[in-house]
Amino acid sequence: MSIISTSIPYSSLILKQNLSFLLRKYPFLHIQTAGNSVLGKPLYVIKLGHGPKEVFYSASFHANEWITSIVLLKFIEDYCIAYTNNSNLYGYSVRNLFNSTCIYIMPMVNPDGVDLVTGNLPIISPAYQKALNIANEFPSILFPNGWKSNINGIDLNLQFPAEWETAKKIKYAQGFNKPSPRDFVGYGPLTEPEALAIYNFTLSHSFQLVIAYHTQGKEIYWQFQNFKPTNSFSIGEQFAKVSNYILSDTPYNSSFAGYKDWFIQHYNKPGYTVEAGIGKNPLSLLQFNEIYQNNLGILVLGAIL
Ligand SMILES: [Zn+2]
Repeated sequence: MSIISTSIPYSSLILKQNLSFLLRKYPFLHIQTAGNSVLGKPLYVIKLGHGPKEVFYSASFHANEWITSIVLLKFIEDYCIAYTNNSNLYGYSVRNLFNSTCIYIMPMVNPDGVDLVTGNLPIISPAYQKALNIANEFPSILFPNGWKSNINGIDLNLQFPAEWETAKKIKYAQGFNKPSPRDFVGYGPLTEPEALAIYNFTLSHSFQLVIAYHTQGKEIYWQFQNFKPTNSFSIGEQFAKVSNYILSDTPYNSSFAGYKDWFIQHYNKPGYTVEAGIGKNPLSLLQFNEIYQNNLGILVLGAIL
């Protein structure tokens, strides 16, 4: 019987419960926290394997993209099952994977935002009321379903020191010049605890590759400016092949200050944004199985290529 349910909207509490059950059943898992959200919720990191190579997957930078957290949790569970049974995942021996690679996973970068969107932040709480006040300034964005930011109204994927000033100019010109349900860059790079936590966590490791999960579009973004990390394009092509997603150029207005942008700029190593699924965020869980099947190959190959 599986621990991870793929039929109910996600929350920070379900994540915590899932991790506690997974750890009890699979004691070879390592679970740590890389920091805390604005509201003090832990930013969990799960480590799979103990090999010399390190890669890093993350999800739910954006609140209404919470389905991506379930994708990574389901992957963790399937990995654990395959490890226990000494079997394969996507055709690859998980025992070999375990010994060759450490896969680090931060499944929920924005727990406060996820809880807001999935109805797990009490309406009477000051945090909910503050978010509502922010949203009221942007009446064309649905509340809470259109919310992407952290609970301070800052977009966590516009917080990284990679042409942050350019992102600021673009987003201010679009009207996002104050806390907002989406697209506000904040008052400087890394002002938000969630962005700072993933930044510091990344710096404390030597990741060969990172994948940041978002929805939607069935696209894979692999570039930042003129950086051409070795193998970045060819790995991207293989990701596209196994997922049936399209390897794309990032739209200009979204090509600055993101996590993968900073990773590529800082390390000149392969970093990807995967825009999973298709439709309007938050995506329906009816799409979960298709999304998972499309992305399993990426998650396995990311640790091997
Ligand atoms: Zn996103």
